[in-house]
Amino acid sequence: MSEVVLVMKNIIEAFQNIQRNITNEILAVSRDPSDIKIVAVSKKFGPEKVIPLLEWGHSHFGENQIQEAESKWEPLKKKYPAVQLDLIGPLQSNKVKRAVALFDVIETIDRIKIAERISSEIISQGKNVNCYIQINTGDEEQKSGVMPEDADAFIDKCKQDLGLPIIGLMCIPPIKQDPTCHFNLLSSIAKKNSLKYLSMGMSQDFKFAIRAGATSVRIGTAIFGEREKPV
Ligand SMILES: *Cc1c(COP(=O)(O)O)cnc(C)c1O
Repeated sequence: MSEVVLVMKNIIEAFQNIQRNITNEILAVSRDPSDIKIVAVSKKFGPEKVIPLLEWGHSHFGENQIQEAESKWEPLKKKYPAVQLDLIGPLQSNKVKRAVALFDVIETIDRIKIAERISSEIISQGKNVNCYIQINTGDEEQKSGVMPEDADAFIDKCKQDLGLPIIGLMCIPPIKQDPTCHFNLLSSIAKKNSLKYLSMGMSQDFKFAIRAGATSVRIGTAIFGEREKPV
């Protein structure tokens, strides 16, 4: 087999494998598999790793960096119009315009300034971008996200004052902690604010996230393999 064919086969097999594990977990907690989406996190991997999945029929991807996402996905989105791209990394205000132009979902709204810019870009570009608010469930100083105690007011401001299409919440639990209490916290904030969607769970902890009510899981390593460590 040629190397290209081998890469394709491996990635599709890895995807099917994780999809099977996810489906089993969903069924084990008596949920409906169609209620939980897999966002394939392709950051740090080139188009040659992504195209096999696109050809095979998966179209929901996540990226954490604007520049990288643009160079990879602008051409791919032309060729595969069904692609849905989620921004899952922090957003700087000088890149909001580009983010709104490229992404279909922004999962990481975490400050009013960003929320305001997104709101005005959505209007000026006339583009529908679904939005999530990132919650810093672990109260970690170095991590982005709205602090849990500020969440209700922040969500309210985004929805009422800025008219943003906020559909859900997203979190990244602190490493080396039991993720379940963080997922449960995210779920309770969402319920309280009548938000339907919960983006939580990655390659290592998706089982806990599904049990706690995730509606999308963000899976990178388990599909594409280990990323090279940033230098
Ligand atoms: C990289 C990343 C993921 C995917 O993590 P894996 O452990 O590779 O599955 C999920 N969510 C966010 C926000 C990420 O940055």
